[in-house]
Amino acid sequence: MKKIWNYIWTWVSNLFNNKKRSAHKSNREVDIEKSVQVIPEYTFKRVDDEPELIEKNVIYIVGQKGFEWVLIMECPCGCKDQIMLNTLKDAKPSWRYSCYKNGAITIAPSVHRKVKCKSHYTITKGQLQWWGEWEDHELTI
Ligand SMILES: [Zn+2]
Repeated sequence: MKKIWNYIWTWVSNLFNNKKRSAHKSNREVDIEKSVQVIPEYTFKRVDDEPELIEKNVIYIVGQKGFEWVLIMECPCGCKDQIMLNTLKDAKPSWRYSCYKNGAITIAPSVHRKVKCKSHYTITKGQLQWWGEWEDHELTI
């Protein structure tokens, strides 16, 4: 019984934290207008295992330090698909990434989905840029 309550409590407090986080984000957006400093649209988080919950605008670097093997993010087009990008050089295709002190991340080369939404984009220093098939995405970003 105690376990169930713990579970419910965690779930409720997660809900609360998510709300707090999004409120914080809108404050950040106001800051962008006021300040010259660029705040990254996409930031990275290092995690040991694949995260159960994928936050928007977060790119998860998965693996033990020094043995990172995949990047996980939600597709920026809004289709909610999970995008997994292999970072192991031996397997193809493979992506490189750079992390910055302000939390921003660069991914190279571009991500071009051959299935479903067919999104084609790059993330450079935390900034998302769409490439090609622009009309398909205009309404969803
Ligand atoms: Zn998509």
